[in-house]
Amino acid sequence: MDTLFSNITVVTMDAAMHVYPSAFVGVTDGKISYLSKAAPQEKPTQIINGEGMVLMPGLINCHTHLPMSILRGYADDCDLATWLNDYILPREDHLDGRSVKAAALLSIAECLRFGVTSVSDMYMFSDEIAQAVAESGIKANLGHSCTLLTEDFDWLHDPGFAQTVALQEKWNGFDDGRIRVDACIHAEYTSNYQLWEALSEYAASNGLGMQLHLSETASEHEGCKDKYGLTPAQLLDCHHVFDVRATAAHCVHLEPEDMSLLAHRKASAVHCPVSNLKLADGCADVVAMIKAGMNVCLGTDSSASNNNLDLFEEMKAAALMAKAKSGNAAALPVEAVLMMATVCGARAQGRQAQCGQIKLGMDADLIMLNFTAPHLIPCHNVLSHLVYAASGHDVVMTMVRGKILYADGQYPTIDLGSVVHELSLHAIGQVFREEKD
Ligand SMILES: [Zn+2]
Repeated sequence: MDTLFSNITVVTMDAAMHVYPSAFVGVTDGKISYLSKAAPQEKPTQIINGEGMVLMPGLINCHTHLPMSILRGYADDCDLATWLNDYILPREDHLDGRSVKAAALLSIAECLRFGVTSVSDMYMFSDEIAQAVAESGIKANLGHSCTLLTEDFDWLHDPGFAQTVALQEKWNGFDDGRIRVDACIHAEYTSNYQLWEALSEYAASNGLGMQLHLSETASEHEGCKDKYGLTPAQLLDCHHVFDVRATAAHCVHLEPEDMSLLAHRKASAVHCPVSNLKLADGCADVVAMIKAGMNVCLGTDSSASNNNLDLFEEMKAAALMAKAKSGNAAALPVEAVLMMATVCGARAQGRQAQCGQIKLGMDADLIMLNFTAPHLIPCHNVLSHLVYAASGHDVVMTMVRGKILYADGQYPTIDLGSVVHELSLHAIGQVFREEKD
């Protein structure tokens, strides 16, 4: 046994939502090898004293754009179209591979700091993002965000399609599946059927999932209906986008028929309540999606529209938004919210056999929270505290496959000093400095 967590409160996230006070969890060769109320006979290499601590599965952030940490706080208090067209897209033109890699590493450090062990990301410069993921030790499903704004599509020469192929060939399955590659359609309104069909066919024939933004704003949803006579979900379904394991971010304006369709296709919705609230997109009807049979997980979206990657904040926002939308204080109980951040996220990523629970044989993707701080005392209900009282700042250790990637302010796999230095040297940092002068 490599590591033993002793006398620790264990939130298993198993089907019965078992919580074991003062239990023991062992890790061997990156897997969970021991779970008991009694100490093991076997002597571990290292013991982590868990008194006053809570151990739970690492959280899974199913919608990020990691490099956008570089644009955090650049544009606030505007709607999605203004935010994107007037602020974000012009600045993204200044990005290059080096700045993207540094910004991605910064976001990965933030994820690990806040207890996230796996992300689903879509962006450009995918090779550099994959390098950052590979070096850091975090898990990721990566997609190259594809758009097609002309009627001419030639899959042999389309840059987005070529990047998807390159990403798949180089990185899919890296480190025994720590990196998985998904195909990625940025959104219905930024592409057309030629790209949808080409990517869907490529995903199906290579065993990839599909990531996309779906019905994020009312104008995008209604615009699609005006143009095609179908909702975005119905339209994309006609072009086979949901034939593979699909992860649809936002789903704010889905209609009941869309929810039934997506449930039938086994598509996952990524609920991003903080970003949706901040951009005034609206409130997704999570309860209706779950009732329709959809798998609903959680995402932060980018730190340029959130403005952090703290999935604990997202859990609380999801619970509160469901109450406000339904007028029912019991709309989304803490157990359901915690499932969204763990088990449902693993399912969305196609990783449900490896992570999302503390269970023998699963990967040791574990996080430890310090429950001795004033805001977590007394603790009548651990699950309640995790959703309503704790934050990412209470995470003191993050482990992926048995390796500690964050503990007590230290990042053993990320040189944060040189990441910050690299960012300060790069184009977009200079743009900011010029504008400030
Ligand atoms: Zn997004």
